[in-house]
Amino acid sequence: MSSSNGGPSLPQERKIVTEIPGPRSRELQERRKAAVAPGVGSTLPVYTVAAGGGVIVDVDGNSLIDFGSGIAVTNVGNAHPEVVRRVSEQVAAFTHTCFMVTPYEAYVAVCERLNALTPGDHEKRTILVNSGAEAVENAVKIARYATRRPAVVVFDHGYHGRTLLTMTLTSKNMPYKEGFGPYAPEVYRMPMAYPFRSELDGPATAAEAIDRITTQIGVHNVAAVVVEPILGEGGFIEPSPGFLPAIDAFAKENGIVFVADEIQTGFGRTGRMFASEHEGVVPDLITTAKGVAGGLPLAAVTGRAELMDAVHGGGLGGTYGGNPLACEAALAVFDVLESEDLPGRARRIGEVMLPRLRAMAGRLPQIGDVRGRGAMTAVELVVPGTKTPDPGAAAAVARACHERGLLVLTAGTYGNVLRFLPPLVIPEHLLLEGLDLLEEAFQ
Ligand SMILES: *Cc1c(COP(=O)(O)O)cnc(C)c1O
Repeated sequence: MSSSNGGPSLPQERKIVTEIPGPRSRELQERRKAAVAPGVGSTLPVYTVAAGGGVIVDVDGNSLIDFGSGIAVTNVGNAHPEVVRRVSEQVAAFTHTCFMVTPYEAYVAVCERLNALTPGDHEKRTILVNSGAEAVENAVKIARYATRRPAVVVFDHGYHGRTLLTMTLTSKNMPYKEGFGPYAPEVYRMPMAYPFRSELDGPATAAEAIDRITTQIGVHNVAAVVVEPILGEGGFIEPSPGFLPAIDAFAKENGIVFVADEIQTGFGRTGRMFASEHEGVVPDLITTAKGVAGGLPLAAVTGRAELMDAVHGGGLGGTYGGNPLACEAALAVFDVLESEDLPGRARRIGEVMLPRLRAMAGRLPQIGDVRGRGAMTAVELVVPGTKTPDPGAAAAVARACHERGLLVLTAGTYGNVLRFLPPLVIPEHLLLEGLDLLEEAFQ
């Protein structure tokens, strides 16, 4: 462990030795402008050389506190020794055969673990793919095949990816959809129970959605409803209590496949292994990615055997899906989640962060709402005394955090949410220092 360049053996401290970004990062940014298409953005263009525990170290020698986890990916921490060990052994043995050509045990083992880990004790099957968007695409393919129905229902503020189908499922136009149409057909968007911005409670909003599904689409035409149990890019919106169970019950009564998109919420992030568990929802299909493999590209669809088994042989797959390096990383992640009780760590992070954020909201009229569960928390910024979104304030506070060496991300349909996604292994002193820096950034 001590011979590695990153991982938890990195000094767990914030250290700022240049302005942010520093001179070497700025040089790389210039090179990038000549080589990389500008459609791909970066939140904070400091160029990384090492990361682990709760820090990211850049080319100028700055050590930043990480409240982003590469967008909820490095739940177990960057370069976790167990991930490094298993991936290193695998990379020396073989790097790829294609599971569709000659298979290997790790793929099967990952599917077994996901079947056991996801909510519900019914019989399940899993397929592995490369990205979250690809998992959502496959969930829709499976639901359509199994039901022989065309329509897909999604919700306001939802985010499901950037491919043609998944950007169609995504709610927000700019930047995800602008100019990229026409979109895929048979996608219908319903209202979401967004407690801060709607008067209706969860069951009432669900009743409204159910009425529209029934009258505007016809239940017999609906293959799937796809929903995030806590909406990620949409601004860490927790649907009001009762909304998800009501939609789930409606789906089950009408032969509609309930797909929980747990790509951002999964693997301990919210204090439970999966966020669906908070309200006892058992999804028919569940999509996972991000936190599953400690940063290696892997994603999955897991679900009821009778749905997953419906599709004909050869109908699902892909060249790299379930790459052996990514599978070994995932097996390490599953072990670490349990051995280090990372859902428990996530709950502890929430217990530290939420009271501090609420106290800040009491003093700072720009904070209109504080929300989240476990290590997935956020503040929504508004024009003081109103609910008018203030994306400018969110951008300014994020910038002030970055200058101080605290990496935070923004989110939200209105771009006015600061979201906090620390690695679940972040040491508590960095969590507290990060909160102090955040408060300073507001001043
Ligand atoms: C990130 C995300 C996706 C897309 O995952 P990619 O790996 O970026 O394709 C889909 N759904 C949710 C909820 C996400 O957070």
